[in-house]
Formats: sequence, C-alpha cells, structure tokens
Amino acid sequence: MTAKIIDGKQFAENLRGRIAEHVARLKAEHGITPGLAVVIVGEDPASQVYVANKARQTAEVGMASFKHELPADTSEADLLTLVHRLNADPAVHGILVQMPLPKHIDANKIIEAIYPAKDVDCFTPANVGKVQIGLPGPVSCTPLGCLMLLRAELGSLEGKHAVIVGRSNLVGKPMAQLLLRDNCTVTVAHSRTQNLPDVIRQADIVVAAVGRPQMIKGDWIKPGAAVIDVGINRIAAPEKGEGKTRLVGDVDTAAASEVAGAITPVPGGVGPMTIACLLANTVTTASLINGLIPPS
Ligand code: NDP
Repeated sequence: MTAKIIDGKQFAENLRGRIAEHVARLKAEHGITPGLAVVIVGEDPASQVYVANKARQTAEVGMASFKHELPADTSEADLLTLVHRLNADPAVHGILVQMPLPKHIDANKIIEAIYPAKDVDCFTPANVGKVQIGLPGPVSCTPLGCLMLLRAELGSLEGKHAVIVGRSNLVGKPMAQLLLRDNCTVTVAHSRTQNLPDVIRQADIVVAAVGRPQMIKGDWIKPGAAVIDVGINRIAAPEKGEGKTRLVGDVDTAAASEVAGAITPVPGGVGPMTIACLLANTVTTASLINGLIPPS
C-alpha cells in the first residue's frame, strides 16, 4: 500500500478562503474588522519568519494586522504594559506573543496577562479549561489543524484508537482533548512510555509531536493508519551540498508511507494549518467579543 499524502498546504489555502468570507461578512453585516496583534521580542531568525508569515496571511484574509517588534532587551514590565494596552484596544481581537521569549522574561506571566477573550493561541488557563469542557472559544492552533485534517480524511473519528506521541501543553495535551471530544479512544505516549513501537502499532490514528527527527519507523505503523506528523526538525542534507540542511518530521515518512493509509508530509502538512487556525481563532474571538456566534 502507498499512503495518500495529505496536502496540508492546499487544505490551509482553502481554509483561508473560507476565513476571508467570514471576515468579509463580519465587516459587511456588523462593521467589525477582526484584528490580530503579533508581538515579537528579539531577533530569533525562525521567529521572525513565523511572525512575517502570520502578519502577511492576516492581511491577506482581510483582517487588520498589528505587528509589534521589540528589542531583545525589552523588560518584562514593558512587555506586560504592551499586553495590557492590547487587551484594552477595541481594534484588537487576538493577541499573539511569539515564543520563545528571551530568558529574562517569565513567559507564564506574559501568557496569564493576556485577556482570555483575546488569547488566540489558547495558552491561558481559562481557555485550556474551556477546551476541556467543550465551551466555545479559541482552540490550540496546531491540534485544531491536525483535527481538521483528520476529519477531512477520515470523516467520523468515533471509536478510532488515536495514539499521540508527546504530551506538551502546546500540542500533545490539547490534541488529546480534541480527539476525546470526537469520541476517539486516546492514548498519550511520552518519553517514559514503555514499548512505544507496540503502543503505536495499535493506532488507527498516530499524531507524532516529539521533536525527534524520523524517530517513528515504518514498521511501527498499523497498515492503513492515518499518520499526522507535527514534528519540524532540521537535519543535515549533505546530498544538497556542504553545510546544507532540510526539514523532516518525527516520522520516517518514506517507510511509513508504505504502510499507512494516509500521511502528512513535512513540510507542507501540519505547518501551514497552524497559521490558518490562528486566523480562524481570531474570527472566533472577534465574534464572541461582539456577542456573535462564531462560525463553526
Ligand atoms: P516538546 O519538546 O514540548 O514536547 C515533546 C514531547 O515528546 C514531550 O512530551 C516528550 O515527553 C516527548 N518525547 C520526547 N522524547 C520522546 C521519546 N523518545 N519517546 C516518546 N516521547 C518522547 O515539543 P512540542 O510539543 O512543542 O513540539 C513537538 C514537535 O512539533 C517539535 O518538532 C516542534 O518543532 C513541532 N511543532 C510543530 C508545529 C507545527 O506547526 N507543525 C507547532 C508546534 C510544534 P516528556 O513529556 O516525557 O518529556
């Protein structure tokens, strides 16, 4: 069997098209322009690229984009002051503070300062709790993107055994909540899990969010399983020339593709969905802040 490649890039493009329609409707029918503020502290090159992409795509779907670039030596107090200002700004419906922050700033303090109604990353305890009990609000972007791809590929997820590898607050834990809500039987594996290959062999759905290049081997995959590879790892690529690198996921894609029913590539799988879901969350928060029912 050769797995179907799940085209996250195309799916994200279609999703952005639907988001642009929602934005146009909010403007035309309610006079609301959803606004997303992105804050970056320092000059980490990868973060700069992410933030530039987020700002560009925000504008492309017709939302207002507010970019705040602060120097690496910005104090925690000054960053908190900016977050408070954005909390109070009626033109801002979503606040994203790009992680990681410089070491002298306590990221938890910053996250807790974000008004939950504008927390489009779904990092605040209030929103994490809402996801857990199924109340409307923003949903963690990467897990939401994975869920959308799985639903599109498999239809109903009910009764499927999902094995999530990784238990971070960013990906693994919220992914488990979302799959539970879709009536999967969920196993969350992590670095202390025993016999990981055997655990994964039981999975109808594998979500790999580990951060270890190509760790999950082809013969760990149950024939026909759907494999969602969240990992983004840069490895040496001497075949491209000296000093060159390439991106790979947490799954050995070539080997897993021989066994799986469907699989996301890296790049071009989950990554593009994350930003699209950030935009979807901004439409959700803009709607809820204005007392409207968010689009489903
Ligand atoms: P974290 O480092 O926060 O978490 C990694 C998880 O993997 C931990 O729960 C850890 O277990 C587990 N783990 C580590 N080693 C093993 C092992 N040998 N066997 C089983 N489990 C293991 O990473 P993130 O969740 O933030 O990110 C995971 C990956 O996803 C990274 O490559 C990251 O770059 C990528 N990512 C991609 C995104 C996208 O948009 N595509 C968005 C976010 C992340 P333990 O808890 O026991 O330490």
